[in-house]
Amino acid sequence: MPNRMLQFVRIPQQAPEKRDAATRRADFNEIYADFDPERARGQAARCSQCGVPFCQVHCPLANNIPDWLKLTAEGRLEEAYELSSATNNFPEICGRICPQDRLCEGNCVIEKGFESVTIGAVERFITDTAFQRGWVKAARPRRENGLSVGIVGAGPAGLAAAEQLRRLGYAVHVYDRHDRAGGLLMYGIPNFKLDKAIVLRRWRLLEEAGIVFHLGVAIGCDLAFAALRQRHDAVLIATGVYKARDIGGPGAGLDGIVPALQFLTASNRLGLGDAPAVGGALLDAAGKHVVVIGGGDTAMDCVRTAVRQGAVSVKCLYRRDRANMPGSMREVKNAEEEGVEFVWLTAPEAFLGEGQVSGVRATRMHLGLPDASGRQSVEPLEGSRFDIPADLVVKALGFDPEVLPAAFDAPELAVSRWGTLKVDHHSFMTTLPGVFAAGDIVRGASLVVWAVRDGRDAAAQMHQYMQQAMQQSAAVAVAAE
Ligand code: FAD
Ligand code: SF4
Ligand code: SF4
Repeated sequence: MPNRMLQFVRIPQQAPEKRDAATRRADFNEIYADFDPERARGQAARCSQCGVPFCQVHCPLANNIPDWLKLTAEGRLEEAYELSSATNNFPEICGRICPQDRLCEGNCVIEKGFESVTIGAVERFITDTAFQRGWVKAARPRRENGLSVGIVGAGPAGLAAAEQLRRLGYAVHVYDRHDRAGGLLMYGIPNFKLDKAIVLRRWRLLEEAGIVFHLGVAIGCDLAFAALRQRHDAVLIATGVYKARDIGGPGAGLDGIVPALQFLTASNRLGLGDAPAVGGALLDAAGKHVVVIGGGDTAMDCVRTAVRQGAVSVKCLYRRDRANMPGSMREVKNAEEEGVEFVWLTAPEAFLGEGQVSGVRATRMHLGLPDASGRQSVEPLEGSRFDIPADLVVKALGFDPEVLPAAFDAPELAVSRWGTLKVDHHSFMTTLPGVFAAGDIVRGASLVVWAVRDGRDAAAQMHQYMQQAMQQSAAVAVAAE
């Protein structure tokens, strides 16, 4: 068979079709179309099959990218799916929302000169095809092992761990305070990046595997953490980080100034067909001048949601410049195409209005000398104050963890100075025996792909812990006879 690979010299990089900005502004549908099978095959064949694949090294899941690209190029899609799903519980999700420019694709060796292989789009194509052809099966175990696990949090970390443990025969119970599984996949990330049908499809599959979901149950409120520990042989905490960083100053308490996640959750809920929550009208950007404060991916999701809701104008205020913003450049570009105005080097100083916000008083900033971390400081420019009209202000300044030892009435749970849970980095165990933790609650706000990785690693360690505990108690029983 002729070598189908190394086609990067002949075939240019082609991502799946992206809908034009005017069309995508009008709805919340995903902006990238599915890969056409022939194009996926051709794009996979661009890979040069590196001996040391830097794409794989920089994928948090160490996905076997060159091999599944080769199988795709050869049309052996079922094998490509087997390989891809062996290291990733949700490849179609990571393929859609990983910041590939910072991970696998940003480190593809053909990037310099030929533009990278479209790894994320091929990964998505493989698993979407696998679903269409019925190759994706629920992770039902061959036999039950009689042990039970409680997982707090149905985000990607909790769900990845749940699937791994269920496959090994554990009775897996997932508890979440929300009414749907998915965590930020469901209620944070907007539909135009990740269609909720994709998340619902995964949730159904996990239920089919026998995982039991206890939804609308907040641990620490509806069920005591101590009671949860009593119910299960081991517990995983995967509760994410939700305490929104706030912004003070004059007028900060006015109506119409809302945290990002409240805005995004309301929008996702509407998309899922839920009735608008109390104050829903306030959270609708239609007909409003919207200002979003922040420069990360959450801010990008907010500006693009506001555009789709029919805002009159959408401005993103960020105190540093374009080169120093934390958000993905791909998302900034998408936002600009959709009509968002970026106001770089600008910080809010006060909020204007009586009762309801009517504007933001802002100050221009300039970048100063680098601090100890190497990051340039930001300093206000004297006399640069100006006002921006705004009927809705969205604060997207990042998230910190809730104080779990207090919320769970478990003072023995040690936390770092940032409030994240301390775990042994090999065993993933917290300072409480039999209690493990994974995802954002350990790392701080991070990425879905890291949550999946942590969930998988924590599950493997929990398995080892429970097997050892079982062997020890069997040995004690024998000795006592
Ligand atoms: P989460 O997804 O936060 O899930 C935690 C779950 O725990 C939630 O369902 C919560 O309801 C539940 N919970 C919390 N406390 C309790 C309790 N006491 N009792 C019961 N349940 C509880 N990452 C990317 O890779 N790509 C992106 O494009 C991207 N976009 C993002 C956009 C936004 C707006 C945000 C906020 C984040 C984004 N991220 C993105 C980051 C990513 O979503 C997170 O890193 C990831 O979801 C963390 O997974 P997790 O399982 O640790 O926590
Ligand atoms: Fe790239 Fe993310 Fe897929 Fe890894 S999981 S190959 S980083 S898209
Ligand atoms: Fe293929 Fe790029 Fe990975 Fe090399 S780095 S194996 S060319 S995808």
